[in-house]
Amino acid sequence: MSASTPAFIPFTRPSFNQETIDAVAEVLRSGWVTSGPKLAEFEATLSNYFGGRPVRCFANGTATMKIALQVVGIGEGDEVITTPISWVATSNVILSVGAKPVFVDIDPITRNIDLNKVAGAITPKTRAIMPVYLAGLPVNIDQLYALAGQHQLRVIEDAAQAFGSLWKGKKIGSFGDLVSFSFQANKNLTTVEGGCLVLNNAEEAKLAEKFRLQGLTRQGMDGMDVDVLGGKDNLTDVNAVIGLEQLKQLPAYQTRRAALARQYFDVIRSEMKSAQLDQMGLELPVEDFTDSNWHMFQVILPLEQLTVDRAQVMTELKELGIGTGVHYPIITGFTLYKNLGYKTSDTPHAERIGRSILTLPLFPAMHDDDIGRIAKGLVGILQKHRKS
Ligand SMILES: *Cc1c(COP(=O)(O)O)cnc(C)c1O
Repeated sequence: MSASTPAFIPFTRPSFNQETIDAVAEVLRSGWVTSGPKLAEFEATLSNYFGGRPVRCFANGTATMKIALQVVGIGEGDEVITTPISWVATSNVILSVGAKPVFVDIDPITRNIDLNKVAGAITPKTRAIMPVYLAGLPVNIDQLYALAGQHQLRVIEDAAQAFGSLWKGKKIGSFGDLVSFSFQANKNLTTVEGGCLVLNNAEEAKLAEKFRLQGLTRQGMDGMDVDVLGGKDNLTDVNAVIGLEQLKQLPAYQTRRAALARQYFDVIRSEMKSAQLDQMGLELPVEDFTDSNWHMFQVILPLEQLTVDRAQVMTELKELGIGTGVHYPIITGFTLYKNLGYKTSDTPHAERIGRSILTLPLFPAMHDDDIGRIAKGLVGILQKHRKS
């Protein structure tokens, strides 16, 4: 590759060090590759990380959230309040247990569910609130649990993107009701695929274990019983050992992500200013350097001021060697959800943001000068297509 063609920057990329690769090889050679001692060690380490609360791991974040709903006993006839701006897994799991997702609009600044609007969506059928911490920025957790307490609702935190995020100095997951994380490859801490659920007590943990393996309980040497319908959602030792190694690297990853995010704010603002685009209305994320784990850096494009759509902006960035992502289109715009009677116009902030949100590259192995290149590329495209 010549010096004039910089390497393509994907919107994200996992980092695995040599220790991780060696640890995986060791598990493969050990003769025990599926759920076993490494899983037990990973769960114990996570439990310790979350202040001693019980933790169980699953094959992916989707299974983790589905099992959280099952542990709570949510099913047919129940309603769960959630956000329309999330990975569709969030509401798909609600449907998959036979319950009904109720979508509340987002706050356009945080891009998370607007907790001020939740009370208006509560009915006698409401059983739980499932907030999502988009890009790792938590909602107002005090307000969330006050609301849940007032209306006697369970909380299942979809903290898939919030591993390492904080609330008032405490780790997300170290307190609260049920808290679900994903270890999918794009997440801040990955096991390639996987997830974990932080639970309240041993009884819930036992139930979660049953749901993840066919509803099975064992007794004595040869006793088995199945009393609930479970699936096959266990995490393997190969995955668990990756998680154990990732945990050691997490503090360094976090520091790096935050540093890159700070650079984005500086460089995007100064590029916008020198292009005299300050008034254009490009929306940056909340500048939070206390709670967020900076899972993603997302901007909202000022589409009403542009002659092109988001797809064209993404195409032109790609031509400059810059990968971007969409996290996420509004869930109620999907055919499955439209066919169930949901309307995107019921949540206008989510409708606009789902159309105009863009994820810029952010991952620990990025170079400092990548940020400048990305910011220049984006601002150049906005300038070129600005409505006159
Ligand atoms: C990644 C993610 C999930 C699902 O996790 P998987 O491990 O991909 O199943 C759910 N919700 C949110 C917000 C996510 O980002």
